[in-house]
Amino acid sequence: MQSPSRIAIVGGGPGGLMLARLLQCRGIAATVFERDAHAGDRLQGGSLDLHPDTGQRAMRLAGLESAFLAAARPEDQGDRLYDPNGTLLFDRDGVDDDRPEIDRAVLRQILLESLVPGTVRWGSGVAAVAPEGDAVRVVADGRADTFDVVVGADGAWSRVRPLLSVAQPVYEGAVMVELGFDAARHPSVDALVGRGKMFAAGDNRVLIAQRNGGGHIRGYAGLRRPEAIARAWAAAPADTIRTDVLAAFAGWAPSLRTLVEEGELLGVRPLHALPIGHAWPSRRGVTLLGDAAHVMSPFSGEGVNLALIDAADLAAALGGGGGWAAVEAYEASMATRAAVAAEGAARGLATVLSDEGSAAILALYRQRGAAA
Ligand SMILES: Cc1cc2nc3c(=O)[nH]c(=O)nc-3n(C[C@H](O)[C@H](O)[C@H](O)COP(=O)(O)OP(=O)(O)OC[C@H]3O[C@@H](n4cnc5c(N)ncnc54)[C@H](O)[C@@H]3O)c2cc1C
Repeated sequence: MQSPSRIAIVGGGPGGLMLARLLQCRGIAATVFERDAHAGDRLQGGSLDLHPDTGQRAMRLAGLESAFLAAARPEDQGDRLYDPNGTLLFDRDGVDDDRPEIDRAVLRQILLESLVPGTVRWGSGVAAVAPEGDAVRVVADGRADTFDVVVGADGAWSRVRPLLSVAQPVYEGAVMVELGFDAARHPSVDALVGRGKMFAAGDNRVLIAQRNGGGHIRGYAGLRRPEAIARAWAAAPADTIRTDVLAAFAGWAPSLRTLVEEGELLGVRPLHALPIGHAWPSRRGVTLLGDAAHVMSPFSGEGVNLALIDAADLAAALGGGGGWAAVEAYEASMATRAAVAAEGAARGLATVLSDEGSAAILALYRQRGAAA
């Protein structure tokens, strides 16, 4: 296989857009199919920290390091930890850390602006992907196009993955209720968060709040609940969810419960994960990156970093002249790397949503501090 001439990327999240950018840097065209009608179609989620060897490295390879540094917030890397009584157990400003934060919408915008105009086909939810001779057919908007290579960058519920694997994400028994705040209008929440993000955990529950750009704060109430309840919440009015969540945090300090009382309800996020070590027999013409290949709980903080470095490695494989064997090698190393992060994410979920909660997180923070 020479560099394939027709490449479709299904999904215009961070991973898919990064792949399109890096292919274009190598002079290879790609079409991105994105379900959203436009970049501002839906809330993009909170702040992400990009790690030096993965997310930041991909931004550098894409020639977007200065745009990233201009938009990133190194000042928001601090950690605070409270117990359910509201006692502050741990506070560090993280100012010397090397994992600057960036809002997800801002990251997406940097990537979009780097692309050749017309690269993204907005409002193009892919309905089907099927082999057609040596090519692959993609059906979106009632129109079918064929490509030499189709990359599934379409997240947890990928439409491309079934061509490669029967695996499906499994509910992890926990759900996050997402909350939004304008810091200026919620001074008590502002004071709670400190210089980055705060956790308060115990009794299999967690409250998280994190500084975002533009004076916003994003919060999460995480609980262990059966999937049926998580699904019911996803369809329930905000007041019902708030009442249920407040009941779950009965007995917690009023200073912490404020998060649930005052937050604007932004969404209900049941946590799903693919099996740790998910891999598949390689199939010429179709591959995956990011959450489509290895969705995991957010408690490793690696999801977006993996999606970005997957894109960098896959662009090198597709553009490097090494044929499909190079893509196979990408798939193998990606699966190995993702398995390590997925184990960390599973451990993270078990630690944060545990009986001990904050005590277990405190031990981890101290261990990390001692190792630094
Ligand atoms: C609550 C929460 C907090 C998180 N916090 C962090 C964090 O702090 N740090 C971190 O690294 N990661 C975090 N993550 C994970 C991170 O958001 C993901 O790992 C990352 O977004 C994966 O990027 P991706 O490009 O692979 O997929 P996605 O971001 O899921 O993008 C997929 C894209 O595909 C599109 N799409 C889907 N289906 C179709 C279709 N059929 N046709 C066309 N388009 C389609 C979607 O609209 C979307 O734009 C968090 C996740 C959650 C749920």
